[in-house]
Amino acid sequence: MNSDLISIIYEITKKFRDPISNKTFDRNNEDVKISHKDGHINIAIIINPNNRSKYDDLSIKLKESLKKVPDLLSVNIILTSEKKTESNNNEHTKFQNPAKNIIAIASGKGGVGKSTFAVNFAVSLEKLGNKVGLLDADIYGPSVPRMMGISGKPVSNNNNKLIPLKNYNVSCMSIGFLIDVDTPAIWRGPMVMKALEQMFNGVEWGDLDYLIIDLPPGTGDAQLTLAQNSKLTGSIIISTPQDVALIDVRKGINMFNKVNVPILGIVENMSYFICSNCNEKHEIFSNGGAKKEADKYNVKFLGELPINKNIRIYSDEGNPICVAEPNDTISIKYSNIVKEIQKDISN
Ligand code: ADP
Repeated sequence: MNSDLISIIYEITKKFRDPISNKTFDRNNEDVKISHKDGHINIAIIINPNNRSKYDDLSIKLKESLKKVPDLLSVNIILTSEKKTESNNNEHTKFQNPAKNIIAIASGKGGVGKSTFAVNFAVSLEKLGNKVGLLDADIYGPSVPRMMGISGKPVSNNNNKLIPLKNYNVSCMSIGFLIDVDTPAIWRGPMVMKALEQMFNGVEWGDLDYLIIDLPPGTGDAQLTLAQNSKLTGSIIISTPQDVALIDVRKGINMFNKVNVPILGIVENMSYFICSNCNEKHEIFSNGGAKKEADKYNVKFLGELPINKNIRIYSDEGNPICVAEPNDTISIKYSNIVKEIQKDISN
């Protein structure tokens, strides 16, 4: 009975929005708490006290609308400036996703092909019959919109959650859908966390077999918090063969070890180049470094991917090589890595 009445109240309150944050007063709005006792309703709205007067009109209209509910004896609207305490435990609820498996694609530094890998990994997983989501958490350089060939803005559903945009049957969410990627975004620490939280909890991901997270490069606070709190099944680290990239790989390994996230493996990208004229293999940035690091740290080596013009061209066209040329040897390499991961996870 109580919960029925609360549902009726929410049906009415959700037609109202917070005059400052513009958030709908629905069940997902953490700033609104509705309680009920013996026909008396209390609605507590957390506000910034400086904005108190902006809520006067809303309080009157909300009360008016609720008066129409049968059997309601009184409605009490409480404007409170009570701050929600953000404890470490809270972090756990911030990055929740019901996907059966959550895999983070990480790299110690930018430009090693992490996003390219994340995109091809996601589409290959989908081709193997999985329901797949791709979360572009690389808020400093979101490339999933371009690489997945998606433009446009996501819209919200009735629950006030963003509906992911789909291409190649992969559900995608990226900060790049929400901001102008050509305008540099200046993110302060708390804003980064807020944006990431929104992409986990504020998105209607649906039932997923796999959620692939394209992490920001490096091992800073954002990466650490995500690794620690998003219930990762595991991580895959992408590196190029050079020494400078490998130093960062070590940092990545240490970060995941520190927060007890299993490292599913390391991939060496841009490992070699096959000349299209002479068919000779050239090891431009040296080769084999990632395998050595993997062995040293007792982490699985998942394989080498060549440097290849088509990988870049297809990425730029928003048509990942695994979609554009599924039978190409490179796409088969991606697919084999995906199968290896699937096998390891199911064991
Ligand atoms: P990161 O996410 O690590 O910053 P990206 O995935 O954005 O790196 O890749 C950086 C650039 O390198 C992109 O232009 C991409 O198309 C290209 N690239 C990535 N992997 C390869 C590869 N194996 N061969 C050729 N170009 C690649």
